[in-house]
Amino acid sequence: MNDRPDQSYHKLTPARDNSIKRSSRSGEYLRWRVNVADAYRAAGMVDEGDAFEQCSDPSHFFMLSPGDELPVEAIKVVVCSDHPDHLSKGICPSCQLRTCPDCAHREAARLLARYMPTLQQYFRVPYRPGWKFRSVVFTAGVSLHDGDVRQQVKHLYTSVRKVFENALKSRPQGAVAISDTGILLAHEFGPNGLKLHIHGLYYGPWLDQPVLADLWQRYTGWQVVYISGVGKSKEIDNLEDAVAEVVKYTTKFWKREKSGKVVFVDPKIVPVLHKVIEGTRRVRTWGLFYDIQEVEEKAACPTCGAPLALLSRLEWDAWSQTGFKPDELRAALRGDVLLNSIHGNKSPPWEPDIGIKQGRLL
Ligand SMILES: [Zn+2]
Ligand SMILES: [Zn+2]
Repeated sequence: MNDRPDQSYHKLTPARDNSIKRSSRSGEYLRWRVNVADAYRAAGMVDEGDAFEQCSDPSHFFMLSPGDELPVEAIKVVVCSDHPDHLSKGICPSCQLRTCPDCAHREAARLLARYMPTLQQYFRVPYRPGWKFRSVVFTAGVSLHDGDVRQQVKHLYTSVRKVFENALKSRPQGAVAISDTGILLAHEFGPNGLKLHIHGLYYGPWLDQPVLADLWQRYTGWQVVYISGVGKSKEIDNLEDAVAEVVKYTTKFWKREKSGKVVFVDPKIVPVLHKVIEGTRRVRTWGLFYDIQEVEEKAACPTCGAPLALLSRLEWDAWSQTGFKPDELRAALRGDVLLNSIHGNKSPPWEPDIGIKQGRLL
């Protein structure tokens, strides 16, 4: 069964959400991944092919309980340094390629987590009276297969900038500088014919759709510009969906036919896409949205606030089986007296917290 495309990627879960669970890739999706890896190699991109094949997601992060055996692909475990039973997250290697649906999904979640707090503030408290968020899509007939597609992408971004600048300058209600508005943009190749379009989230005063469409045609020759409102009872009913729509993917890796059948993009396309997007920025931000930094979250245990530590497979195994943290184990091996053992005088490894262990003897 094909379970991956059945999941809704419309709304993304922020990466910091601890609840990402281990799940299995479907047979069809796995076969597609193997074919993509082969296509990379056939295109002379052997390292990328290997990385793509070895990317062990979807279980990039998964929660572990004491006594759990580490899956073979896990390389490290992130734990609460004080009480590993509070939090233990296995980490598997990932390819980090933007052409990998799993890695792209995680990257999108990170971007969403980065932009949402600032954008939400503007959503709640308008920067200027009447300013609203709108989703704007600029379409173009440029295909991934066009030889000059990288130049075309550049040209389209420059044109989007000119469109907004001019539309804002020529507003009958008064000119506004583009630097006073907020714009978030990303380009995407659609599933049909891999046609390029630019997804934008615009925050500012009202702009007429025909004005944007006319300007778009003037600068690019392409005609279609879609605008949707963002907010309650609008086309896109919440801001998070609108941001996710922009940051989610560089392409859709599959589409669902009317019959319900899921069709993956041709694996041979993937190395082509790779070369086209290589070295390009995933997301562009202008004006109010420029240079929004990630909110640095201190890596701390959500239960007790202790810093998180990184354990090797061996250290995890040792702790998981004996209840000794790495420093305690080292002390024990040296023959030092254990004063601060994690399990104190409880029977090993300790009495588990209620609930999650389901009666299993640890
Ligand atoms: Zn990957
Ligand atoms: Zn803790």
